[in-house]
Amino acid sequence: MKLFNTLTQSLETFTPLSDDNTVRVYVCGVTPYDTTHLGHAFTYVSFDALMRYLEYTGYTVRYVQNVTDIDDDVLRKARELGMAWDELGRRETERFLRDMDALNVRRPAVYARATDEIPHIIEVVQTLVARGYAYVSEGCVYYSIKKDPDFGAMARAIGLEDYASMLTIANERGNFPDDTRKKDPLDFVLWQAQAPGEPAWQSPWGPGRPGWHIECSSMVMRHLGPQIDIHGGGADLAFPHHTCEIAQSEHYTGKAPFSRFWVHTGMVYQDGEKMSKSLGNLTLVSNLLKDYSADAIRLTLLSHHYRHPWECFAEDLSVATQTVEQLQHVRRLVGRSASGEDSMLRHQFTAAMDDDLDTPQAVVLLKEAAAKVIAEPNLETGAEILRLTNVLGLCV
Ligand SMILES: [Zn+2]
Repeated sequence: MKLFNTLTQSLETFTPLSDDNTVRVYVCGVTPYDTTHLGHAFTYVSFDALMRYLEYTGYTVRYVQNVTDIDDDVLRKARELGMAWDELGRRETERFLRDMDALNVRRPAVYARATDEIPHIIEVVQTLVARGYAYVSEGCVYYSIKKDPDFGAMARAIGLEDYASMLTIANERGNFPDDTRKKDPLDFVLWQAQAPGEPAWQSPWGPGRPGWHIECSSMVMRHLGPQIDIHGGGADLAFPHHTCEIAQSEHYTGKAPFSRFWVHTGMVYQDGEKMSKSLGNLTLVSNLLKDYSADAIRLTLLSHHYRHPWECFAEDLSVATQTVEQLQHVRRLVGRSASGEDSMLRHQFTAAMDDDLDTPQAVVLLKEAAAKVIAEPNLETGAEILRLTNVLGLCV
């Protein structure tokens, strides 16, 4: 299989690092302070399709995802709602999992909460301080980018060529350049000193809480080991989040690459703008599920290539609904216990999926094959279609 690696900006042949036939995958999860929108669904359905396909081709997949249950957004939203931050986190995590379950996204083997990770995070941060990559300042610990000549390979890969462009984007995404406790505006926080009224955990630097980037590095290393095969997330995580993850992880373990492949999903647009909580132009999964079947929503998402940005229109969902009806028609023709195969269709399907997970092409193949089977019943092809829809995670 060929997969696009953000770090090298090229299609590379996928093989796991270890020889135990296991693919180790980590995908950055949600911050549970608001409901799940179509952008989230696109990321997690795309990765779910990748996991299912890797298993179909014979690998064992070990998949870990995090939930950032403590951060600035969670605390702010909890204050606005007059709710306890941990209660808000639990409620929104449950909602997210319910939406993902509804879309037949399989749960990861480990679904790790930041607040369960604190002792290991502290150990990683201590080591980075001891090795000179991080420094303590007024109860905070920062990663020092000047001490790390390798910093920023991922940023350069996605076109942030120099310090100034990195700083601009980092600050847009919450790096707090005016924090006077930092030596350099691009330094990022590993441990954040307790602010008045905020929850805190004890640490060698005083009470505080972990930064966001270190949470993911710590979870990857604890649950999957020092090096993994695929690290994924939305395209807006490549910098600074994943760039920072690489820096701190590789200097903690002394091993590179931290992840063999970096896989990023395209942003989803609504009304011409990126779907985001701050703009309020959200299509919520829970609302879509009132009007469309889970299969139709899933098929709509998989009809877009995981790497490309796209905008969702109601017409897409109607077309997908028709395709689901065609596949259901095939199901009725073939029945539940049908056997038989169509090696030509299977070959075309795997060729599409091997080409950087080309699910849009795979969907077209199944749709065309279904139309043929409906016009002229062929139970072998029908059985193959149903097996392959299963690889895409459809419940037809
Ligand atoms: Zn992450």
